[in-house]
Amino acid sequence: MPSTLTDNQLYQKVKFYGKNALLWRQKFIGLLPEVQKRRLYEKKHFGSIFEFAFKLAGLSEQQVRTTLNLEKRFSDKPALKALLENGEVSVNKLVRIQAIATPQNEEELARVVKILPRNALETLVRDENGGSKPKIEIKSLHVQDFGHDGVLQLNEKVTKKLLELQKKGIDVNKVLLELLNRREREIADEKETISANLPTTTSRYVPARIQKVVRQEHGNKCSIPTCHKPAEHLHHTQTFALSNRHDPRYLAPLCKEHHLIAHSINVVVQEKRETAVL
Ligand SMILES: [Zn+2]
Ligand SMILES: [Zn+2]
Repeated sequence: MPSTLTDNQLYQKVKFYGKNALLWRQKFIGLLPEVQKRRLYEKKHFGSIFEFAFKLAGLSEQQVRTTLNLEKRFSDKPALKALLENGEVSVNKLVRIQAIATPQNEEELARVVKILPRNALETLVRDENGGSKPKIEIKSLHVQDFGHDGVLQLNEKVTKKLLELQKKGIDVNKVLLELLNRREREIADEKETISANLPTTTSRYVPARIQKVVRQEHGNKCSIPTCHKPAEHLHHTQTFALSNRHDPRYLAPLCKEHHLIAHSINVVVQEKRETAVL
């Protein structure tokens, strides 16, 4: 009797049923291409595969079309096709990576699509922009193009000083560029210094001096050049568990999505390394 359950018990129950309902639906969807091939719906007296899917599982026409379409596109991609057929991954997720899937990268994608949530998959596909291999590139000391954030905000004091220099016939662009270059050099030097004297550690805590230099370089945004989301994680581009060092040359602030992507690709790289050793 539902009325005798505590809130917590009721919540556990709906969560359990909900999760299973989704899973079984995914499995149903996975069988649709075979149903279509055999025209099973005709043999069982349904007007169409759409009626079949609606009456048996409440699926919309659009969901059926998407599934059949995906199955066609995966005909030369066995790993992805298997995920669809055995209902391991939702059509919603598969449809997102379909645009960048090729026979060459499909095995890699099949692994990644199981790990990453939908948002991160969208980011991955956007980054790929039709390319062939999932890759992640973190550029150090990449100078953001000012256009994106709109107008440069120079305060009165700075504007006045620059104007004074300009009046004297001094090239203010050159002055600014020299200052910016010096700043970049100082950051790079600081990173080298820290790195040269860096002890190994098992602590995940990144010391303040290192956090500071990373912030000087990347500000508070994700360090993927095309991404403008706020940074949420300080990612080790050289796996920390292997290096045991918080080397600032290999630290990159990343947004939530790019961090998930970075780790899912790490996993792929590690799996490859393991199979290579075998
Ligand atoms: Zn990380
Ligand atoms: Zn990002």
